[in-house]
Amino acid sequence: MADVTGMTGVAGGMTGVAGTTGTTGGVAGGVTGVTGVTDYDAPTQRDFMARVRAMSDGLPAPPLAYVDTYGCQQNEADSERLRGMLAEMGYAFTDDEYAADVIVINTCAVRAHAEVRVLGNVGALVHTKRAKPDQIIVLCGCMMQEPSNVEKIKHSYRHVDLVFGTHALPRFPQLLYKALGRAGRFFDRDEGGGEIVEDLPVRRGPRPRAWLSVMYGCDNFCSYCIVPYLRGRERSRAPDRILEEARELIADGYTELTLLGQNVNSYGKGHGLDFAALLGLVCAIDGDFSVGFMTSHPKDATPRLFGTMAANPKMRRHLHLPFQSGSDRILSAMNRGYTRDGYISLIDNARSLMPDLNLTSDVIVGFPNETEEDFSSTLDLMRRIRFDNLFTFIYSIRPGTPAARLPDDVPGSVKRERMARLLALQAAIRKEKAGRDQVR
Ligand code: SF4
Repeated sequence: MADVTGMTGVAGGMTGVAGTTGTTGGVAGGVTGVTGVTDYDAPTQRDFMARVRAMSDGLPAPPLAYVDTYGCQQNEADSERLRGMLAEMGYAFTDDEYAADVIVINTCAVRAHAEVRVLGNVGALVHTKRAKPDQIIVLCGCMMQEPSNVEKIKHSYRHVDLVFGTHALPRFPQLLYKALGRAGRFFDRDEGGGEIVEDLPVRRGPRPRAWLSVMYGCDNFCSYCIVPYLRGRERSRAPDRILEEARELIADGYTELTLLGQNVNSYGKGHGLDFAALLGLVCAIDGDFSVGFMTSHPKDATPRLFGTMAANPKMRRHLHLPFQSGSDRILSAMNRGYTRDGYISLIDNARSLMPDLNLTSDVIVGFPNETEEDFSSTLDLMRRIRFDNLFTFIYSIRPGTPAARLPDDVPGSVKRERMARLLALQAAIRKEKAGRDQVR
C-alpha cells in the first residue's frame, strides 16, 4: 500500500472482430488465457483502439462504459488511462451499470476489507448481465494480479468476461478487442516486470486537480504489504516525459498537480536525478500552479527534499509521511527501514524549514505481536508529533506477504479497543490544534 489506502458489452450492434495478433486464440464459451502478448507499444494499441472504434461506426449512439475504481490514487490515475482508451475506442460514459455496454472494475488488494467489497459488488453484476446479456464485464487492477483471486473469478464469477492485472493495463485495447469477439473468457495476469508505455490517451477528472504518475512499483517489501508483489519493482518515468505532461496539464488549466508513485520519493533510479531534483524541474515550469506528491516513505525522505519543498513557493506545504508504528520492535518486524527516533528527527527537520507544514500519516494497529507497550509507543509518538490528520488501519493478513507467516495474535477485541484509544487521542489533538488556530 503505497502506504496507501487500494462490463459487456459492447453494444450488440458491434461487428467485425477479426483475429488479433500475438495472442492465443479464444475458445467459444471456454476460458482462454492470453499468453505471448508483447505488443505493449502505443502504436499497436492505437491500432486496436481504431479497430474497436470501427465496430461501433454507424450505430445511432455511442456504446456506453461504466468504470468503477477502488483503492489508492494510483488506481484513480490508472482509471483515467482506462477511460482515455475507452473514449478513444468510441465509448461514452454512464453511471448506470444497467445501461453500460462495458463495465470495468479497477480493483484494490491492499486490505482484506477492500477485496470483500469488490467481490460483493462483482457478484451483484450478475443481475446487470442478465438484464443485458451482451454486456462485457472487465476486472483489472491489483486484485487481478493475484493468482488466487483470478482462480476465484474464473470458477465462481462466470459472468466476468475479461480479467487482467496491473502490468497488462497498457494493452487494454487489445484485450477488449479480443473480448468483443466473444470467443471466450480471457484472463491475462502478465508476470513480467511491468512496462512503462507512454503516449496512451488519458481522460482526466475535473480541473483544477490532476494526477501525474512519475513512477510505478515498489522495492521496499514492507512485511505486511502486497504492493511489490502486485505492482512489481520500481520503474521511473523519464523526466522529459513527466515535464512534457506537466506542461500540457498546466496549459490545459490544471493548476493543482500531484506527482504520484507507490514510493514517490525514491523516484529517479536509472535517470541520474532524484525526486528533489524532479520537483525543482516541475516547479520551474512557467505558470500559476501548485505541486504536491504522494506517497512518500520515511526511508527516502531527505533534508534535500524538505529543502526543495521549503525553497519553492509552488510546492504545497503538505507532507504525507506514513509512520505505521511508534515501536522500534514493530517497525523492524514491518521491515520499514527506519526507527522511531529517525522518524522524529525527519519531522523536526521538515518543520524547522516549513513551520506551516500540514503533516499527515498512516498508522497500523494490531500488527502481529504488538504488545500494550508497543502500542503505548505509538500513542506517545502521536503526542510528540501531533499530526494534522491520520489514516488509521487495523492490521489484516495479506496472503503471500512475510507478515502472513506470523501469528495474527492480537485478538480482534484488543485491536478494536486500541483503535478507539488511538482515534480518541487524534481527535483531541485535532481539536486542540483547531482551537489554537482560532486564537491566532
Ligand atoms: S512495500 Fe512499503 S513502501 Fe512499498 S507500497 Fe507497500 S507499504 Fe508502501
